Amino acid sequence: MGLIIYLDGQYVEEEQAKVSVFDHGLLYGDGVFEGIRAYNGVVFKLKEHLKRLYQGAHTMGLKINETPEEMAQVVTETCRRNDLTDAYIRLVVTRGKGDLGLDPRKCAKTTTFCISATIKLYPEELYQTGLELITVATRRNIAEACNPRVKSLNYLNNIYAKMEANLAGVPEAVLLNNEGYVAEATGDNIFFVRDGVLYTPPISAGLLEGVTRNCVIDLAKKRGIEVREVLFTRMDLYTADECFLTGTAAEAIPAVKYDGRMIGTGQPGEITKMLIQDYRDYVRNAGDGEKI
Ligand code: PMP
Repeated sequence: MGLIIYLDGQYVEEEQAKVSVFDHGLLYGDGVFEGIRAYNGVVFKLKEHLKRLYQGAHTMGLKINETPEEMAQVVTETCRRNDLTDAYIRLVVTRGKGDLGLDPRKCAKTTTFCISATIKLYPEELYQTGLELITVATRRNIAEACNPRVKSLNYLNNIYAKMEANLAGVPEAVLLNNEGYVAEATGDNIFFVRDGVLYTPPISAGLLEGVTRNCVIDLAKKRGIEVREVLFTRMDLYTADECFLTGTAAEAIPAVKYDGRMIGTGQPGEITKMLIQDYRDYVRNAGDGEKI
C-alpha cells in the first residue's frame, strides 16, 4: 500500500495524488517548498519551517490557501495518517494550474501537497570520516535574480552545482556568491571553526537561512562558543581547523577535505563532533515542535 498524501484539502492514496501537467510548479518551477523532519512523534521546528514557507510565498506573491495553523495541522495529520512518528516531510505549494504562458495571473489558485515519508539517512560512516567538498564554477543565484532566501521549487542552480561535484567525483559542492565569498553547499549551510570560534556566512551572503543552521548556532552559544556570521573566502576554509555542513536531512555532518586540501587534521574536529552530538540529542529529546 502506498502513502496517504495531502492534496488541496483532501487526504488521498498516493496513486490518486495527481497534479495537472498545466501546473506552473511543474512548467516553471513556480512555487515554494519545505523539507521537514519528525523525531519521536514531534515535527521538529514546524513553526520555523512554516514561517520560511509563508515568507517565501509572500515574496513570490503566492497566496497559500491554508492558514499557517491549518498547514501545521496538515503536516501533523499527514504523519498521523501514515502512522509515522519519525518522518521526512515534503510540503509543497505551487502557483497552481495555468495556461502555457508563464504569467502567474493565469493561475487561479495555488496547489498544496504534503508527503510524509521515511527518510533515507546518509551512511553513519560519513559522520565518522567526514565529507569531501569542492568549489564549483556555478555561482549561487544573486538575490536580485532568484533570491536564495526563498526556498523555491527552482533548484536548477543547486542541481548544476551538484552535477559539477558529481563530475569531479566529490560528494558535495561549495557554491560561492557572485563576489566570490562562500555561500553554502547544494542543500546545506556551511560552518567552520578556527581557534575555538565558530564561523558561518551571514544571510546577506545569499543563502537559505537554514532551520538547522539557526539551531546549531543556538546550541554552540549554549556551549559558550563564540559564533561569528561573517563573509569568508575559500582560503578561510583551506586554513580552518574544522568544517561541517548543516541541513534538515543531513543534520550536522563533518567536512574534512576541500578542493584537495585537508581541513585541519583531516579528521572531524572536536567542536564539530560535540555540536553533531548536541544536535542529535536536541532534535530527539527537546520536543521542540508540534506533536503528531
Ligand atoms: N541551503 C539550501 C540550498 C537548502 O536546500 C537547505 C535545505 N533546506 C539548507 C540550506 C538547509 O536548510 P535547513 O536546515 O532548513 O534544512
